[in-house]
Amino acid sequence: MARKEDTNQIFDIPFAKRTYLKNSNSKLYIKILLISIFLLLLFLFAGLRLIRDSKIVFSSFLDKQIDMKDDQRILGHLPYPEISKDKLVFIEPNIEVHIDMRESLLKMREDAKKDGIYLVFLSGYRSTNLQKDIFYSLKSIRNQIASERARVSAPPGYSEHSTGFAIDIGDYMQRETDFEVEFENTDAFKWLQRHAAKYHFKLSFNKNNKHIDYEPWHWRYEGSIEALKIFENSNRKSK
Ligand SMILES: [Zn+2]
Repeated sequence: MARKEDTNQIFDIPFAKRTYLKNSNSKLYIKILLISIFLLLLFLFAGLRLIRDSKIVFSSFLDKQIDMKDDQRILGHLPYPEISKDKLVFIEPNIEVHIDMRESLLKMREDAKKDGIYLVFLSGYRSTNLQKDIFYSLKSIRNQIASERARVSAPPGYSEHSTGFAIDIGDYMQRETDFEVEFENTDAFKWLQRHAAKYHFKLSFNKNNKHIDYEPWHWRYEGSIEALKIFENSNRKSK
């Protein structure tokens, strides 16, 4: 009998121990669960931070790319490719423009005439060579250094006129304002301000441009994909 009790005692001990172990295990599970939840939240938080940071890095990378394009400027002017001859058409004996803007430009002049406004086309496409002559000869005539001259004329290779999408416009009734800031007071300019956008024309150098002087006579065409591509960088910078 005494032996049986002994046996029971022997069995009892592991049983009690096992219960103790079971309790200890569930506490451990809870601990592991809590730690897992904590780690999960930590990773989630870290992940969100990483996404946010990479967005910041990416956008600053884009800004840098834009700045790099900025570096292509010379004296405030952006570089422009010269248009191939087969895309140019004469709209007047001495004025050539890109074929894509011909129709819109002539329609604009026609519609202005109906309103009693007489637009004169002063200059369209200019080759890089002609721009070279203008930039360097006028510079010496006016006794200006390049940076002064660049405020009123683009260096060769940097003129919107070489794209065929730029046009200088005057008022037939006030020719003395040709290529002058006073052109902004003419009826022609006021008409253009109200209506030019309808024909996809935009003033290139407005009063807010910090590099280049205000040119109320100089308009550019943005009514085709080719034109928009050419002026994309300029438009991005002026935002
Ligand atoms: Zn011009």
